[in-house]
Amino acid sequence: MKELLENRCFFKLVCGAGNESVEEVRRLVKLYSDAGCKVFDLSAKPEIINAASDAKYKCVSVGIKGDPHILKAKINSNCTNCGKCKEVCFNNAIINAPAQIQEERCLGCTKCASICPFNGIDLISKDVDLNKILPTIIPLGIDCIELHATAGDEDETDEKWNTINRLYNGMLSICIDRLNLGNKKVISRIKRLVATRKPYTTIIQADGIPMSGSDDDYKTTLQAVAMAEIIQNEDLPVYIVLSGGTNSKTLKLAKLCGIKYHGIAVGSYARKIVKEYISQPDFFENKIIYNKALTLAKNFIKETMNNKI
Ligand code: SF4
Ligand code: SF4
Repeated sequence: MKELLENRCFFKLVCGAGNESVEEVRRLVKLYSDAGCKVFDLSAKPEIINAASDAKYKCVSVGIKGDPHILKAKINSNCTNCGKCKEVCFNNAIINAPAQIQEERCLGCTKCASICPFNGIDLISKDVDLNKILPTIIPLGIDCIELHATAGDEDETDEKWNTINRLYNGMLSICIDRLNLGNKKVISRIKRLVATRKPYTTIIQADGIPMSGSDDDYKTTLQAVAMAEIIQNEDLPVYIVLSGGTNSKTLKLAKLCGIKYHGIAVGSYARKIVKEYISQPDFFENKIIYNKALTLAKNFIKETMNNKI
């Protein structure tokens, strides 16, 4: 994986820290592996890591309380079953009449809660005890642990970071954005966490706006490039990967802005372009469906990476 970063060929398919749908992850990983992707971001659950058996490199995601990547939506008693939330859920996590959220499919994007006219959806942090979960997943064979560290206080961030460092000695990643923390706090947090690490054993995933890249345009990717520039200006011994609002335009914009990125992580857009095929019951058996999805995935990676993969 280090070689991909050094050669700036790192392309990571984000299945979603909150994506606990075993069959969807199995399909995404097989499809994007066949398309040339080698690195996959996965929920830190044994069944998800096992479902990603086709992945060459597995990066598991954990988070601190309040980080959008570990939020789960939950319908509350204010719900009137109006159906509006179902329309905005890009991951088909909401079923209607009465409205219900399939937790394993919820990625915590918060769109449903924002659109609900009746304040009928709560967003709850799904915090896990790293001391319990990491010893169960590290032996399964993982290549990176990513801490989503855009919320919470400094004490909680340090505590989780120290636990990860104590239990795992491989590559680590910090996924962070400046929307919650602001420029100064985001940099001081990154510097403090990186100070405990050997040079070039840490990826900083410069997150623009998490889960916002479903449209293939420059607007969604602006924040990711801006965040990467802020990190680059600090000249730290880290790898910089762009995420959050990323799509086929991201690396073009990063180049135009002089960002020396090492890679890109794409979630919403990469999943969106194959969604209608992935959801077919005979996805693996029906070669016409599979090959259509494969062509889309291959073309997307090629366009995004300028033939570097
Ligand atoms: S938008 Fe709100 S009120 Fe309407 S179905 Fe969803 S949770 Fe219920
Ligand atoms: S809209 Fe987002 S937060 Fe709401 S259920 Fe769907 S994935 Fe979860």
